[in-house]
Amino acid sequence: MKVLVVEDEKPAANYLKSGLSEEGFAVDVARTVGDADDFIEIAVYDVVLLDVMLPGGSGIELCRNWRKRGISVPILFLTARDDLHDRVAGLDAGSDDYLIKPFSFEELTARIRALLRRQRSSGASDIAIGSHVLDMNRRRLLLNAEAVSLTAREYQLLEYLALNCGRLVTRTALWEHVWETGSEPDSNVVDVYIRYVRNKLGDDGGRIETVRGRGYVLNCAANVHEHQ
Ligand code: CA
Repeated sequence: MKVLVVEDEKPAANYLKSGLSEEGFAVDVARTVGDADDFIEIAVYDVVLLDVMLPGGSGIELCRNWRKRGISVPILFLTARDDLHDRVAGLDAGSDDYLIKPFSFEELTARIRALLRRQRSSGASDIAIGSHVLDMNRRRLLLNAEAVSLTAREYQLLEYLALNCGRLVTRTALWEHVWETGSEPDSNVVDVYIRYVRNKLGDDGGRIETVRGRGYVLNCAANVHEHQ
């Protein structure tokens, strides 16, 4: 899961980044409206946390602008101003929910998960990976109806590969989706996590093929030889 945090106050931004990273989210931080606009153009996010008062413009205006441009990412407003006018304006602008500062981290993650569930229930489904099933609604991997234990990052990595079944996913794309946008990918880390996920897939581990020097392809095709 990839989150864009748009927050100009450094302590608040750092707090959100470190807390969400610990929860297994990949987090990018934008400090201004302009930065947020750049990030939204180059990366795909699962959710945006958007501060209302920003240097260079208001979060409400930014949200309205994105919606006009067809950017439909779920948006959760973070607002310090507990007044009805702002909330109504935010929801009118096309945000999905809002949180009044200060808020607890538990409340924040609960809201994020609710937004993701809402998004997912409108289209997500299961993807078969050999004898495994990736259940994207509940974010888990099943083998014979038993959940396989995956960390948040392992899940994200596998989900991203599964959403691109049969297509090459570069290390950079994986890095940017599961870790961080705009930073140099750490190929070592990506390879280590690929190894973890292969192990978790057991007999299906070989379905993650390495494309030398480029990245990985997940083969989700049914087992053609199984019944012969
Ligand atoms: Ca602010």
